[in-house]
Amino acid sequence: KPSLSVKDLHVNIEDKEILKGLNIDVKGGEIHAIMGPNGTGKSTLASSLMGHPNYNVTKGEASIDGKDLFDMEVDERAQAGLYLAMQYPSEISGVTNADFIRSAMNSRREEGDEISLMKFIRKMDTEMGKLEIDQSFQHRYLNEGFSGGEKKRNEILQLLMLEPRIAILDEIDSGLDIDALQVVAKGVNSLRSENFGCLIITHYQRLLDFVEPDFVHVMMQGKIVKSGGPELAKKLEEKGYEWIKEELGIED
Ligand code: ADP
Ligand code: MG
Ligand code: MG
Repeated sequence: KPSLSVKDLHVNIEDKEILKGLNIDVKGGEIHAIMGPNGTGKSTLASSLMGHPNYNVTKGEASIDGKDLFDMEVDERAQAGLYLAMQYPSEISGVTNADFIRSAMNSRREEGDEISLMKFIRKMDTEMGKLEIDQSFQHRYLNEGFSGGEKKRNEILQLLMLEPRIAILDEIDSGLDIDALQVVAKGVNSLRSENFGCLIITHYQRLLDFVEPDFVHVMMQGKIVKSGGPELAKKLEEKGYEWIKEELGIED
């Protein structure tokens, strides 16, 4: 079973401490949600686990399947089965979507065991069908001129194609209308298995109406301050975050 484990993680951006001792464990078969107010460090968590160079890990550890993440290059993390869907996916000119996905899939396979073009095309067709993505997407340059919703659908397409062991989805739901949200949810739900663990980072509980998390964590001021089940997300939706601050005596 895959596992992502984060212990006492401290991360600085420039000289400012953003993550202040964050702990989380995600295992295969589990869907976790991290919710929290804006500016609390949710994207910082995602980016530092993926190895973004601007994020400086000053203390703590993180591992995938017991292997030290911070010892790995960015591409090694992906090869180990970690996938990050970014809040702001970048555009890559000159590389088509299909080429990008195929090379990402092959980078996780042994040399000589590359996916055949036939199999790739068949799988791409199937997954695009599930997500109601237009065929023309394959041949367009990665994210170039994609609308917000198209980018998010495309991230989910990559997810279904790559079948990572652990996925971190950073605000994959932001800016989506209800139809796109349901498509995204359908994609995530179709991956649910013992071989897949998922961390959904979100500001709103909307997506969690369609993807029921096993665990919900509230993040504030750089750490997880409260954890519970799906009911916690509903309570946050109704009551906001202030009551947690009061309950835990957190000052702004
Ligand atoms: P969230 O995703 O929870 O909204 P972020 O992780 O994006 O929060 O940001 C956490 C904090 O780090 C915020 O105070 C933000 O202003 C700061 N921050 C984020 N990115 C940068 C950056 N590139 N340079 C300086 N500060 C940053
Ligand atoms: Mg934000
Ligand atoms: Mg963010």
